[in-house]
Amino acid sequence: MPKRRTARAATQPKPDAAVVLAAMGRAIAGGKAPSVSEIARRDRDPFRILISTLLSLRTKDDVTDAAAARLFAIAPTARRLARLDLRRIEKAIYPVGFYRTKARTIRDIARRIDGEFGGEVPGTMEALLALKGVGRKTAALVVSLGFDIPAVCVDTHVHRIANRMGWVRTRAPHDTETALMALFPRAVWIDVNETLVSYGQQVCTPLSPRCSTCAVAEWCARVGVAKSR
Ligand code: SF4
Repeated sequence: MPKRRTARAATQPKPDAAVVLAAMGRAIAGGKAPSVSEIARRDRDPFRILISTLLSLRTKDDVTDAAAARLFAIAPTARRLARLDLRRIEKAIYPVGFYRTKARTIRDIARRIDGEFGGEVPGTMEALLALKGVGRKTAALVVSLGFDIPAVCVDTHVHRIANRMGWVRTRAPHDTETALMALFPRAVWIDVNETLVSYGQQVCTPLSPRCSTCAVAEWCARVGVAKSR
């Protein structure tokens, strides 16, 4: 059975969302971070963060990690990637989801970065969103992890958990991004993605969340949760 708020807790004011987020972070401390976060921690290279985020779309973390390592071994910079043959890129990133489309997308992006930005990934949401194939989720992750600029990156885990918790009531990720930026102080915007992605992978899973052992169950509205462990 899911944890319920105790009589004592029920009489106490609900903590700020940032306090609940920190409790989630403590509960999953020591577990594996999302693959792009791991890559960002290794060298904070915006190029690697951008490309690995694009590779990670609809792809499992371990597949993304291995594909990114193979690709960066032959293309450590945007300039090198821009000059690679398409087939070689496909071979390096296989079996990430949609590897043929992604190979073309990342090569085209690398060519634009090389031609228009001197080989350096631009550090603004606007410039990143102007690159074909880069959406808000990817752009937010690049500016936050690569340039340390506060941004809330909303992926499927962030969108799902924010709605289940009752923090937001949104249908579109863009609306979730706006609502979470209003809910959380800027100082924790960058933490929102990494904490909720990891929490979504380990505890608040899509189909049957582990509500009975969830560290923040007493503060969760469990909106739309019909089945749980
Ligand atoms: S839905 Fe369940 S697992 Fe997810 S945050 Fe709420 S109580 Fe925790």
